[in-house]
Amino acid sequence: MKEYGLFVNGEWVKAATGKSFVSQNPANGEALAAFALGTQKDVDKAVQAATQAFPAWKNFPPPKRGEILLKAAAILRQRKDELGEVVTKEMGKVIAEGKGDVQEAIDFLEYIAGEGRRLLGETTPSELPDKICLTLRQPIGVVGCITPWNFPVAVPCWKLGAALISGNTIVFKPATLTPLCAAKLIEIFEEAGVPTGVVNLVTGSAEEVGDAIVRHPKIRSLSFTGGVVAGKEIYVKASSLLKRVGLELGGKNPQIIMDDAHIDTAIEGLLFGAFGTAGQRCTATSRLIVHEKVYGEVKEKLLSRLKSLKIGNPLDPTIDVGPVASQEQEKKILNYLKIGINEGAELLWGGRKLTGTPYDEGFFLSPTLFEAKHGMRITREEIFGPVLSMIKVKNYEEAIAVANDVEYGLSSSIYTRNVYLAFRAMRDLEAGVTYINAPTIGAEVHLPFGGVKNTGNGTREAGTEAIHEFTEVKSVFVDFSGKLQKAQITE
Ligand code: NAP
Repeated sequence: MKEYGLFVNGEWVKAATGKSFVSQNPANGEALAAFALGTQKDVDKAVQAATQAFPAWKNFPPPKRGEILLKAAAILRQRKDELGEVVTKEMGKVIAEGKGDVQEAIDFLEYIAGEGRRLLGETTPSELPDKICLTLRQPIGVVGCITPWNFPVAVPCWKLGAALISGNTIVFKPATLTPLCAAKLIEIFEEAGVPTGVVNLVTGSAEEVGDAIVRHPKIRSLSFTGGVVAGKEIYVKASSLLKRVGLELGGKNPQIIMDDAHIDTAIEGLLFGAFGTAGQRCTATSRLIVHEKVYGEVKEKLLSRLKSLKIGNPLDPTIDVGPVASQEQEKKILNYLKIGINEGAELLWGGRKLTGTPYDEGFFLSPTLFEAKHGMRITREEIFGPVLSMIKVKNYEEAIAVANDVEYGLSSSIYTRNVYLAFRAMRDLEAGVTYINAPTIGAEVHLPFGGVKNTGNGTREAGTEAIHEFTEVKSVFVDFSGKLQKAQITE
């Protein structure tokens, strides 16, 4: 079995302890590769390398940084099929989505490379004669990037791409479930010409490597994507060191179907939104809010479509839903199924672990549909699995009230052909992302991405907003009068 080290100061090295861990395929338990189990000492070395590399990278012209990112995108494009397969094997999403994960990384790197020729500041007049004012966007320094397993290529590229074009150097810790995707990505950045020490990879646990990154005084900024529990803990620890922190956390995303919606299209959107990536997307639809007039029709059509979903080996292109990512995920989701039943939700479809061949080898759950009452735990808490709760409402006002009455606010969707309601929903839904007549998943990289309430702390990834997470703004005053001029001093 291939063994990967840590990538520190341009070299693949063993962890300080010499220990390793294995990444496995959740569809069949196959061991994919072994990885160095990093420690705090390894994080220290990575930070040292990133600190040394910073001055040169900071002064490397941003358009040239962009050329390196474009090269990385080109290599990813050449190797898209191979990497898509690695994504599918390592975390279980179906192959079309595995390749989609890589495509999103390509799209973002190509997009953000162009920022190397912008990194826009402002120019303004001065209140004094013969003087101008402007702002510059400057890198922060060494940034820590901590990523989840559900988008193991795209999310790291969102962070690394934006941090690199802005001139920062990086210590990157991927999720313990998906180190192979991370290692392949690092090989690609290396081949694309990222200079020594600019990107460093430390694989290992949240408790050891993650915590060391969060607490390291020389890491000035943290970019974290993951669950709300970890996000809050990181925010508290990092704030005592006054670090910049970007948090992209969970969701409890609603899809509303109004009585005038095109029902068949809404259901196709829903199946993709709720069961794509086996419901393990931060933007996955987990609440279906339906107008009472079409509730019966939606329920009947949805059940008939659910019966036709194929669950199985995610490398098989005819399969709709693969395994969940790990045994821990499976356990957590099965527990939520029990919670739903105990609190009185009616199980309309699924609700169980699949058994027999090929299911016994992996973590396969049947897609699940509950008929639920708003307020039950399964309608409030992020389950992060193929579990959908259907809720009946009387009208638009109740639909919005139910949609908004959760602690999260990432994605949201409404299906309606009423233009007035569509525009009201754009205004009324409490979410960072709203789709009209489209599912809750499917963000495009040139728009900002992130959420409100417990979904984060106000930062956004993707789009030009991504640059703001990774830069400091400097205000510059240029006086060409040849004499001392004093702002605000009138006498
Ligand atoms: P997670 O358990 O919070 O872990 C995310 C990453 O943080 C992993 O690398 C993990 O390491 C590390 N980590 C966990 N606790 C930490 C701590 N206290 N200090 C430092 N590092 C820590 O989340 P996950 O299960 O991987 O991902 C699922 C969650 O991510 C869901 O809630 C989902 O909604 C969210 N998500 C959000 C977005 C978004 O953009 N809003 C996108 C994707 C996913 P280990 O792997 O070693 O435990």
